[in-house]
Amino acid sequence: MTALDTVGLEKLSMYIGGDWSPSASGETFETFNPFTGKPWALVPRGNAADADRAVAAAKKAFTSGEWPTLNATQRGHLLRKLGDLIARDAEKLAEIEVKDNGKLIAEMGMQLKYAPQWYYYFAGLADKIEGAVLPIDKPETFTYTLHEPLGVVAMIIPWNSPLLLTAWKLAPALAAGNTAVIKPSEFTSASALAFIKLVEEAGFPPGVVNVLTGFGKEAGEALVTHPDVAKVAFTGGVKSGTHVYQRAAESLKKVSLELGGKSPNIVFADCNMENAVKGAISGIFAATGQTCIAGSRLLVQKNIHNEFVDKLIAFAKTARMGDPMSLDTQVGPVTTRPQYEKILSYMDIAKADGAECALGGTKAERSECGDGWFVEPTIYTGVNNQMRIAQEEVFGPVLSVIPFEDDDDAVEIANDVVYGLAAGIWTSSLNRAIELPKRIQAGTIWVNTYRAVSFIAPFGGYKRSGLGRESGQDAINEYLQTKTVWISTATETPNPFVMR
Ligand code: NAD
Repeated sequence: MTALDTVGLEKLSMYIGGDWSPSASGETFETFNPFTGKPWALVPRGNAADADRAVAAAKKAFTSGEWPTLNATQRGHLLRKLGDLIARDAEKLAEIEVKDNGKLIAEMGMQLKYAPQWYYYFAGLADKIEGAVLPIDKPETFTYTLHEPLGVVAMIIPWNSPLLLTAWKLAPALAAGNTAVIKPSEFTSASALAFIKLVEEAGFPPGVVNVLTGFGKEAGEALVTHPDVAKVAFTGGVKSGTHVYQRAAESLKKVSLELGGKSPNIVFADCNMENAVKGAISGIFAATGQTCIAGSRLLVQKNIHNEFVDKLIAFAKTARMGDPMSLDTQVGPVTTRPQYEKILSYMDIAKADGAECALGGTKAERSECGDGWFVEPTIYTGVNNQMRIAQEEVFGPVLSVIPFEDDDDAVEIANDVVYGLAAGIWTSSLNRAIELPKRIQAGTIWVNTYRAVSFIAPFGGYKRSGLGRESGQDAINEYLQTKTVWISTATETPNPFVMR
């Protein structure tokens, strides 16, 4: 990259200890607009020295100054204020996300209007973190528990829904009294840097929340191995998540991992077919299939298979592609060039494995797609569950349709992957709606709906889809540790050589 190449690009700074700064090395990297395929800003390339600075700022804010003196209700007030500011600036933040990420303005607008709910919910929970007085089995002893924050939390965020996934971590972590270093994805750093201005405006003391920009192997790994980081909250792919888990284990950090999926969306013959078609579409083509919860394996009962697939293809053909800033667009570009190439490579893999391409199967060369990284909404039929296209996460608008006979067959296919993030079931049978979720190994099961999330509902993976839960009351426990306090009221200490 020559100096001439960078003329006209916006220059972004990272935010550490309440100050805006370049990286210690002075190096930057380009961030791209996926719709034009062109860079639009330069982001500081943080390294271990920057991670040290960020962790030191977060540690200082955790142990001294105003933050540790705030009571839980006051922390809740700050979180509520932050939620209000996000709601106020939702449109502005959505536009930054669209430019940097390629997500649809329609989806981002909705997502960012909803994101404040995580801050409101955990604001409410902040002063409901209660210890207990234990009915202890010892005489003249008063024993109670305290639930205390962990310290500095490193939050490592992927590119697909940056601000929403930040909210899932930051809101409970701050409610519990921790401080944070956010490491956004190197592909989508801009929205975190716009968001942090709102954290400042809300009145959080300097150092409570910091944004360290840079690459996973450099800035990210420096956080994961840092001795003063108490916990790593990671969302991303299984490969990097496994690596992060191993590196964090060296210093016995607490770790939560929200990883990938290969979720089954199971359509029974007794379903409402129109709704199930929409559910299948929403499972795989919404957000251009770039969601961890994508229903990328569509299991269809054999006796309706052909009719269902025909309806699905007819619907998918109507999907409008193009400029993500246009409210009409339904399928936007792929966010990153490597991801675009990865999706196209899976089209070759599917062909080589013998899957039949019923729709798409190529890059999109429609005029409305310009020079962006677009792929055609793609449907493979004749897929068996052992094919790579059925076992591996593609993270794009690529659907594998797998026929099944009956409930037992559906359950066996659904569970026959290493992942367990989510599943969908489409049926009009009450019995099946209640009994089948018990048999499916996944952290979230949707019956007659798909892709619904809420600040109230715990979310996380079974099997290799992750560890820990985000959202709901479970989430705050991920950011707390329990202390037990024993107070003796005895006037005389008993025999010191015997355990009490
Ligand atoms: P990724 O794993 O490549 O990167 C995620 C984050 O980890 C980035 O910030 C990256 O810089 C960082 N990182 C990478 N290597 C690292 C390392 N060695 N040490 C520290 N940090 C490192 O994932 P991605 O491509 O950004 O996102 C897509 C993946 O995320 C998909 O697999 C998707 O399923 C998953 N995801 C899961 C959820 C969920 O909640 N379960 C939500 C969204 C995305």
